[in-house]
Amino acid sequence: MLQQIFCVCRMSREQKAVERARKAFSTGRSKPLEYRIAQLKNLQRFVTERQKEIADALQKDLHKSEFCTPLHETLGLEGEINLAVSKLAEWAAPRPATKNLLTLSDQVYIQPEPLGVVLIIGAWNYPWAVTIQPLVGAIAAGNAAVIKPSEVCVHTSKVMEDLLPLYIDKEMYPVVVGGVPETQELLKQRFDHIFYTGNCAVGKVIMEAAAKHLTPVTLELGGKSPCYIDKNCDLAVACRRIAWGKYTNCGQTCIAPDYILCDPSIQDRVVKEIRKSVKDFYTENPKNCPDYGRIINQRHFKRVMALIEGSTVAVGGENDESQCYIAPTVLRDVKPQAKVMQEEIFGPLLPILSVSSVEEAIKFINEREKPLALYIFTQDNKLIQRMIAETSSGGVLANDCLVHFSVSSLPFGGVGNSGMGSYHGKFSFDQLSHLRGCLIKQLKMEGMNQVRYPPHTAKKIGWARFFILRQVELSKLGIVALLGVLAVVAAVMLQRYFD
Ligand code: NAD
Repeated sequence: MLQQIFCVCRMSREQKAVERARKAFSTGRSKPLEYRIAQLKNLQRFVTERQKEIADALQKDLHKSEFCTPLHETLGLEGEINLAVSKLAEWAAPRPATKNLLTLSDQVYIQPEPLGVVLIIGAWNYPWAVTIQPLVGAIAAGNAAVIKPSEVCVHTSKVMEDLLPLYIDKEMYPVVVGGVPETQELLKQRFDHIFYTGNCAVGKVIMEAAAKHLTPVTLELGGKSPCYIDKNCDLAVACRRIAWGKYTNCGQTCIAPDYILCDPSIQDRVVKEIRKSVKDFYTENPKNCPDYGRIINQRHFKRVMALIEGSTVAVGGENDESQCYIAPTVLRDVKPQAKVMQEEIFGPLLPILSVSSVEEAIKFINEREKPLALYIFTQDNKLIQRMIAETSSGGVLANDCLVHFSVSSLPFGGVGNSGMGSYHGKFSFDQLSHLRGCLIKQLKMEGMNQVRYPPHTAKKIGWARFFILRQVELSKLGIVALLGVLAVVAAVMLQRYFD
């Protein structure tokens, strides 16, 4: 006993949190659907009752206005919680699986089961969406979860630490705050799944740590999401949607259009239309506009400003380091070798690069890492289908930006360098569940099994071919009839075997 107490005292804060979550999980209380629904409803209550604290923290962290907070963060979260509450019974139920001739009389189904303790590591740019939405999936799937908000959004992280435990089971879902050392301490612990949102470099650190325990990972990463504008397109509408997608949250959106590819003949009009949209959205002076955000900190401010070097500013460019302000900016005639094209921008700079054909645009995209999102603006449906067929990306959106994130029936996630695994809606539930294959046989119809038991003969292989390779699509009545026939076959085989 004393030794046990001594051990617990020597544990780090992170180790204790994981231990607590594992202990809570092992009680089995997270498994019943009633518990999961109660926790999801508590989370829902937290979001509605604590709107003010959430909005105040986001205002301090990212200069988000009180109207941007519901639009960017909490409405989507509430939608995901509502969906999980209303669909949980359906998602968690056994899923019937197609049978073959050998399993016709058996029960064959998929049973989703919780994985155990999930580690959720969030990023700072949409801290609620990227930290709490995975939690919705973890709770719905019956897991325990250790929640690690990003230390970069200082105020939001504090709200999560102080207030979440007042609403949800704090043993099952502990919040651990801290920076890189704390995250690394967490990563030394054993988890049953790690759900990480952030940049690719840290994604590799996460995967390496997970490999030590063979822990599966979901990596929601970023990258450079291209935006192709066809000449045959309503440029005013296209540029308004692109300007919204780019400058929302001051360009700090994982699926923001990173750069534009278009024919040189439309570049001037693209610049003109984006300038107009920026003015319509954020006035002549975006610095004073409550709906225009700020770069999260001075380190990122310096990083983004340095990316402008060597490119021509066509719109914006004004900045103020003391406020981490960078105006919505367009860069024209940008070359592929430019500094701004060497990394994900994650700020309000929009480079325009020239391509003289769709082929060239496709080649340009395919020569680079697979992006998280691909945007195409055109009136030509064939062109949309061609781009989808000849490129690869986490998601693709034609004639708009960002909104695919809000569709719960679409998997949200990357491919290749932009990540692995996906979530939202039922995908979150499946991502954080083990889909267990179940086959339940009776100890009857033993004659049928003679085909697989030694001694093996050519005749038995013939029967095996018939049973294994024959595809059956039968109604209930058909199954009963076929079972009758198979019972006769089994009886005959059994008799021959014993003769
Ligand atoms: P960040 O700096 O907040 O890091 C994310 C998390 O990783 C934090 O909790 C932090 O503690 C941890 N971390 C940082 N360095 C670490 C290290 N060396 N070892 C262990 N843990 C470490 O966020 P970020 O990476 O700046 O976020 C921005 C990136 O995230 C962009 O690339 C963006 O595209 C991407 N992102 C992706 C999505 C998505 O859904 N795919 C969503 C948001 C952001």
